[in-house]
Amino acid sequence: MTGLGSDECGGHYRLLGIGAGPANLSLAALLHGDREQPSLFLDRKPSFSWHDDQLVTGATLQVSIFKDLVSLTDPTNRFSFLSYLHEHGRMYHFLNAQFAEVPRTEFRNYLAWAARSNENVGFGETVQQVDFDGVFRVTTDRRQVTADNIAVGVGTVPWVPEFAVPHLGPDQFHVSQYMSRAKNLAGRRVAVVGGGQSGAEAFLDLISRRGPERPAWVSWVSRRRNYFPIDDSTFTNDFYMPGYSDYFYRLPGTKRAELSSAHLLTSDGISESTLRAIYQELYRIQFIEREENRFGLLPNRSILSVDRTAGGGFELIVRHNDEPDQSQFLPVDAVVWATGFRSAPKDFLASLMDRVETEDGEMRVDEDFAAVWDGPPDRNMFLQNAVRGQRGLPDVNLSLNAWRAQRVTNRLRGRNTPDPAMSFIDWSAKIGRGTQWTL
Ligand SMILES: Cc1cc2nc3c(=O)[nH]c(=O)nc-3n(C[C@H](O)[C@H](O)[C@H](O)COP(=O)(O)OP(=O)(O)OC[C@H]3O[C@@H](n4cnc5c(N)ncnc54)[C@H](O)[C@@H]3O)c2cc1C
Repeated sequence: MTGLGSDECGGHYRLLGIGAGPANLSLAALLHGDREQPSLFLDRKPSFSWHDDQLVTGATLQVSIFKDLVSLTDPTNRFSFLSYLHEHGRMYHFLNAQFAEVPRTEFRNYLAWAARSNENVGFGETVQQVDFDGVFRVTTDRRQVTADNIAVGVGTVPWVPEFAVPHLGPDQFHVSQYMSRAKNLAGRRVAVVGGGQSGAEAFLDLISRRGPERPAWVSWVSRRRNYFPIDDSTFTNDFYMPGYSDYFYRLPGTKRAELSSAHLLTSDGISESTLRAIYQELYRIQFIEREENRFGLLPNRSILSVDRTAGGGFELIVRHNDEPDQSQFLPVDAVVWATGFRSAPKDFLASLMDRVETEDGEMRVDEDFAAVWDGPPDRNMFLQNAVRGQRGLPDVNLSLNAWRAQRVTNRLRGRNTPDPAMSFIDWSAKIGRGTQWTL
């Protein structure tokens, strides 16, 4: 436990945050120093980390650095990325480095600094149960604290297909464990499964290994028809603005699901710089070093099953999506499952779940990300990064972190701060600049 004492009688807070990833850190930053809203944020990790076991060399942030914890809503806040640079005396160096994309490790270090510098954030304490009797009673593995409101920001957990679960271990692992597990792949046949950024980074890392470190063969399997880039263009980024989030939220559930699926590559595609690096590496292998049979590119295919072979390896049964009668058998020694993440379970809320409205397996939230429940209106359970169905793709990434946290703080303070100017685009027929078109 860092910073926060560990008394068994934990005190009372206006807001208790469960989890201290970027989502709740943003809220912690906005509440910092507000004596009327005493807050405490607890995270079960021994110390701050941010997907550290996936930090391959060269990994970069997929969003603008302005999408830090606070800048888009409170640019003078002391927990901004600029403030981090300033405090470390590296403002000029950062400018002169002219990063086209900010190294992910530097953003991680910024987040760690923000967590460390905020005395209301503590690590090494797991929230086990939340009950309610007029206040929230939060039981951790160390103590009980009470709070008027809670903010759940427990993020996501790795996901692999059901048939892969029994094989997980040293030879088959989720990409979230890549740095610690992918060390011993020299001379082996490796399959990377998953066509998003994480799969691309793992594939690039493996094909870039030289000399004795080199795997014998690396294949990259994806259900997508090709290795598609993230769409980071101007108008597409308007999907990641507050106004679109509110428009999306008001649509019927079936329409929201349709849009999230149609817009998936605005969030889950691969950075163009990563794709280019992969292509250039393949060129080097095939035409400069003239090495035969080093890689396999297998998009537009689904893995149906995994079997262990008599020789100690594995066989992946792969189905081509356009030619489903053509199964392929992929012999490998190791598999990196880059098959994504799912919303983390929130078992600690079990005693409250029959009081909460749900929609398609998600807790329903109101406009301020507070769960809709039968409790008193001034006692709220705010949900961060847990309502992708209701708020769409931005809910799980960094883009709207600061704005979402601002909605929560406004609710706590009984205030209203203006949202940023509307998008140039009129999303809705009902609201927007052009409702009347009196030109
Ligand atoms: C490798 C990777 C790179 C990414 N890069 C980007 C990017 O460039 N741009 C972008 O917009 N998005 C990116 N994302 C997506 C997203 O921004 C991150 O997943 C982000 O970490 C989500 O923040 P969070 O706070 O919701 O969850 P998390 O970061 O997962 O934090 C949740 C925290 O809750 C804690 N916790 C869980 N249960 C408990 C409990 N019971 N008690 C106490 N603590 C608990 C966990 O220990 C954890 O620290 C990336 C995701 C990954 C996997």
